[in-house]
Amino acid sequence: MQPPKSHPRYESLMKREKILEGIKEGIVAEAGLIAHGRGEAFDYLLGEKTIPEADLAEKIAAYHLILAEYPVISVNGNTTVLVPDDIVKLSELLNAKIEINLFYRSEERMRKIADILRKHGAKRVLGEKPDSKIPGLEHSRALCTNEGTIKADVILIPLEDGDRAMALKNMGKTIIAIDLNPLSRTSKASDVTIVDDVVRALPRITHHIKSVKEEKTSKKVIKKEIAAFDNTKNLSKILERMQTEAISRF
Ligand code: ATP
Ligand code: MG
Repeated sequence: MQPPKSHPRYESLMKREKILEGIKEGIVAEAGLIAHGRGEAFDYLLGEKTIPEADLAEKIAAYHLILAEYPVISVNGNTTVLVPDDIVKLSELLNAKIEINLFYRSEERMRKIADILRKHGAKRVLGEKPDSKIPGLEHSRALCTNEGTIKADVILIPLEDGDRAMALKNMGKTIIAIDLNPLSRTSKASDVTIVDDVVRALPRITHHIKSVKEEKTSKKVIKKEIAAFDNTKNLSKILERMQTEAISRF
């Protein structure tokens, strides 16, 4: 059911609708509903907007992706139902591979997710035919492809599980997470953590990549800003902002 546009939390309700629809269609796992609810709670504390610390992380993420030799975007059911167009646009802009990675893997769900992404213009979607494994994870969660996860130097992981994020980090990859929970293991294990809703984060990363191209920002400047970024410091600022933002509305 579509909420009325005048509803003060229209955007949030629309996201719920998409997730629920995804469950009905067998694209989102039931646990994806719980993950979404947890994300919503943190987003509520942040005022359901992109905070300055998230924007900084989005810019640094864009910088890493621009410098990457082999960027990969990892997607799951939630991300696919929420932002299929943005995933495809970003992958085209970066010439990045898209790979499906599911916490609750089923061949049917893999196919349905790949079909949606293809319907939204993705020429190639990896993950349905895994030919490798991430070391240190149990079988179905470890499955990945040589052409995607294994070859990647920089991986964008929206809504990823902590075990997999840590295993990817142990493989020496640069990890960019999109996770509304600044306290999750994923958030703490990542090189860059974007504490923002994936619906706002992906277009903002794309915006920052375009700005670099338009403004012809030099590689030297990009590298300097990456070196100056401290993810742990940024996460602790976010925790403070959650408190002040929530108290200001009390
Ligand atoms: P971890 O395994 O990293 O310790 P977790 O087990 O608590 O975290 P998971 O269910 O593995 O959480 O991952 C889901 C994460 O995705 C949650 O932290 C949640 O806040 C976040 N999340 C859910 N929906 C969104 C969204 N739309 N945008 C950004 N983040 C989201
Ligand atoms: Mg988890």
